[in-house]
Amino acid sequence: MAEQDVAEEEAAAGDGDKLVGVEAQACDASGTPGKLTTTDRFASPEELRRQIREFVSSHSPPTMRGLDYGTRIAHMRDWAATLYDQGFAGPAWPYEYGGMQLTLVEQVVYHDEFAKHAIPSHPGNGPSIAGPTLLRFGTPEQRRRYLPPMLRGDEVWAQGFSEPSAGSDLQSLTTSARLDGDDYVVRGSKLWSTYADVADFMFALVRTGDRGSGAHGISYLLIDLRRDA
Ligand SMILES: Cc1cc2nc3c(=O)[nH]c(=O)nc-3n(C[C@H](O)[C@H](O)[C@H](O)COP(=O)(O)OP(=O)(O)OC[C@H]3O[C@@H](n4cnc5c(N)ncnc54)[C@H](O)[C@@H]3O)c2cc1C
Repeated sequence: MAEQDVAEEEAAAGDGDKLVGVEAQACDASGTPGKLTTTDRFASPEELRRQIREFVSSHSPPTMRGLDYGTRIAHMRDWAATLYDQGFAGPAWPYEYGGMQLTLVEQVVYHDEFAKHAIPSHPGNGPSIAGPTLLRFGTPEQRRRYLPPMLRGDEVWAQGFSEPSAGSDLQSLTTSARLDGDDYVVRGSKLWSTYADVADFMFALVRTGDRGSGAHGISYLLIDLRRDA
């Protein structure tokens, strides 16, 4: 990789410290991360474990017990931002979008170590569900726009799949989306949507095909919940 390319990668990541000494490799067109071995950032899985312990003890994650809902959400967002800013967010995500791009063994170490601490979970279902979908199927513009603020907790995402009459049998969903000029007009009901009350965006499954179009008539819509109707 040319020096100029590395510099551009670092600038795009927005966090020079995190990439010192690392030859970051962006996703290829299909969203598959470039190869990055343990020696690129951590000398060994045990070194990663040591660094996580040191990070947790020096950043004192907030305890969540006994707090009201609003305070817990605020702590979750703050902690997500701390993880992101310090280079400990998105263990499986590519560097390009603020992730750690860890190997599989390192990801096991990461989750094992963090599970030992009562740390706040990420607010919303963005990094766990919508993020990987965008990494695999999103356009480069969508990935650049949505992934970093999603991982940092600046923008919270809710999942809009389940409906009153479509749970396990998701292909029976009836919430429709019809194009009206440049906008989709969405009509229907979603439920079970965790954190929808505080979310900025929803990733939703909606019917863009005819009533009997089954699984083939379903589209994946990114909905800005902050916009006035
Ligand atoms: C805590 C929690 C959070 C959730 N968060 C979200 C969210 O954020 N966004 C979202 O979209 N959804 C969410 N869900 C919904 C969840 O993922 C499932 O889609 C939903 O619970 C299943 O639908 P249902 O409750 O209508 O049950 P049903 O689909 O009606 O199922 C009822 C029972 O029938 C069984 N069953 C269903 N079909 C069959 C079959 N063919 N053969 C045998 N048994 C069957 C099921 O196992 C279940 O025991 C959440 C659910 C929970 C519990």
